[in-house]
Amino acid sequence: MSENVTRAVALSALLAAACAERPASDFQVHGAGVSVRTSAPFAHRGDLPARVEAALSAALGYWGGSWDDLAGAQIVLLDGPYVPCAGSSHAVGCYDGELRISASDPGAGTFSCVEQTVLVHEVGHAVIGDRLHTDPRWMDFEAVLEALSGRSGYTADGETDCPLFTSVWRHPPDAP
Ligand SMILES: [Zn+2]
Repeated sequence: MSENVTRAVALSALLAAACAERPASDFQVHGAGVSVRTSAPFAHRGDLPARVEAALSAALGYWGGSWDDLAGAQIVLLDGPYVPCAGSSHAVGCYDGELRISASDPGAGTFSCVEQTVLVHEVGHAVIGDRLHTDPRWMDFEAVLEALSGRSGYTADGETDCPLFTSVWRHPPDAP
C-alpha cells in the first residue's frame, strides 16, 4: 500500500471514529453543548457551567462575537496534554466546528480551572476563523486576562488559586 493510500485509510478511519464518538452534552451554554471528558477536578465542580459561561462571554466580547457564533457547537473538555486535531500531533486545543480543549498543559500538568485552558483561543477561531493567526489579537489577550483573573481553582484536595497567563492563549502568526 502506498503511503498516500495508508494515510487516506487512516484519515477516513479517524473521521469515522470522530463522527461515531460525537459526545453527548453534559450541559448547554446559550445553545452550545459542553461535554466533560476529563478527570480534572475543576471539570467536576458545580460551578463549571457558570465558569464556562463567563469564560465564553469574555472570549466572545474580546473577539467581537456573539452567542450565535457558538450556537450548535460542541465544546469537549478532554484529558491532555494533547487533543485529536487533523494535521497536528501536539494540539492542546482544536477547532473544526467542535472545540476540543485539553484540561492539562504539557509542561504544567492538569489545569485547576477552565479559564486556564485554551478555550478563549479556540473561541477566536469559532468567531473569526483565521487559521493562520494573522490577526494581532492572537498576541494580546490582556483584556481577557483582566476579565477572568482572580477566580478560584481546584485540585483533588480542594480549592486553590488559579493564576492565568496570556501565554497559554497567544499564538504568533503562522508561516503562510
Ligand atoms: Zn489557533
